[in-house]
Amino acid sequence: MKTLNDFNFNNKKATIRVDFNVPLNANFDVTDTTRIQAAKHTIIKVLEDGGSCILMSHLGRPKGKQNEFSLQHIIKDVVDVIGCNVKFVEDCIGPKAEEAAANLEPGEILLLENLRFYEEEKNGDLAFAEKLSKLGDIYINDAFGTAHRAHASTTIIAQFFEDKKCFGNLLAREIESIDKVLNNSEKPVLAILGGAKVSSKITVIENILDKVDHLIVGGGMTFTFIKAQGGSVGDSICEDDKMELALEILKQAKEKGVEVHIPVDVIAADDFDNNANTKVVDVTQIPDGWQGLDAGPKSLENFDEVINKCKTILWNGPLGVFEMESFAKGTIALGNSIDNATKNGAFSLVGGGDSVAAVKQFGFADKVSYVSTGGGAMLEMLEGKSLPGIEAILK
Ligand code: AMP
Repeated sequence: MKTLNDFNFNNKKATIRVDFNVPLNANFDVTDTTRIQAAKHTIIKVLEDGGSCILMSHLGRPKGKQNEFSLQHIIKDVVDVIGCNVKFVEDCIGPKAEEAAANLEPGEILLLENLRFYEEEKNGDLAFAEKLSKLGDIYINDAFGTAHRAHASTTIIAQFFEDKKCFGNLLAREIESIDKVLNNSEKPVLAILGGAKVSSKITVIENILDKVDHLIVGGGMTFTFIKAQGGSVGDSICEDDKMELALEILKQAKEKGVEVHIPVDVIAADDFDNNANTKVVDVTQIPDGWQGLDAGPKSLENFDEVINKCKTILWNGPLGVFEMESFAKGTIALGNSIDNATKNGAFSLVGGGDSVAAVKQFGFADKVSYVSTGGGAMLEMLEGKSLPGIEAILK
C-alpha cells in the first residue's frame, strides 16, 4: 500500500483529491471545517517536502456551473485551516487550470473549481480524467468519503499515474482502522449495530458474522428480531418481511459461535414524540399503542458488561431515537461504555451512515480510537466490498 512516506515531493506538483464537500449556510459560510482539517496532514507533508499542491474536490450536487456550489466560498477556510495562501482557478480542466498549475511554485497551493461542474466527473469519463491528470506529477487520493465511487477524479484518473500515485494520510488511516477491526483485530471482537432498519444493515451483519465474537443488535432493528422470535412489539418499527432473515442471522451466528446480544427491555412511548408518555417494558411485551424508542436500563447493563470484556469494538448506528432527548440515553450510555473500554486499552472504531452525527453530538469523538469520516464508503467496506477509489491506487 503506497502512502505519502513512499514519495519525496520536492519540486513535484501533487494533484490531491480531497473531500472538501463541506456544509454551507445561506450566506455561503462554511459551518463545519472538519473535512478541511482532515486533509491538512497530507497537504503539509507535500509542502514541507518542497512540493506544491493542486487540490480538487466536489461540493454539493450542482447541475452544471452554479455559483452557489463554487469552491470559491471555501477559500478563506482552507487558508485558515492550512495556514498558507491559497490560489484559486475558476475551472478544473482546460487552459486556465493548466496555466495556473504550470505557474505553481514549490510551497504553493492551488484550489481548482468544483469537479462536478462537469458531469464527466460523476460519469467517470476517461478523457476528462486524462485532462485532470495533466495538471500534476503525482496523484494522491485523500477523499475517503467518495472512495466508493468510480468517478473521474477518485478512480479513473489513477491509471494515468502508473506508480506515481498513493493514498493520502486520511485515506491510509481509514483503511488501517477498518483493517484493524475486520482482519487484524485483537479478540474478543464486538460489533454494535444500531439504527433504524434491518434491511439497510443486512449485508454488514452478514459480512461481520465471520469477523466478530459478539454482536449487539439495537435500535429499531431490535423489534424485527423480537417479533420473529414470537415477542409482542406493539407499534414499534418492525420489518415483517425481514423476520425470516432475522431468524436466519441468529441461526448463522449460532453456527459461527457469535454471541448475539439484543435489548431485553426498552423505553416505550405512547407517541413518536419527545414529550410522549414513557415506561420501561420487557422487550417481548410491548403493549399495542406503545413503541420502543430506546434501550432500557437492564439492556444497557448487559451491553456495558459485553463492551468491557472486548478488545476491539466497532460501533455503527444509535441505540435509540437519539435526535429526541427523551430517547438519547441509551446511545449516550453506550458511548460511555465504549469510552471506558477504550481507556482500558480496547481499539474502538465508530462510523458508517449517520453514526458520526450521534458521536459528535454527545462529545464522544475524542474518546474513541477512531471516527471514520466516510459514511457510505465505510458501510461498503464493512459489507466486504472493495472500493474503486482504493483499488485504483493499489493497481
Ligand atoms: P441508521 O442511519 O440506519 O444508522 O439509522 C439511524 C436512525 O435510526 C436514527 O435517526 C434513529 O432515530 C433511528 N432509530 C434508532 N432507534 C430507533 C427506534 N427504536 N425506533 C425508530 N427509529 C430508531
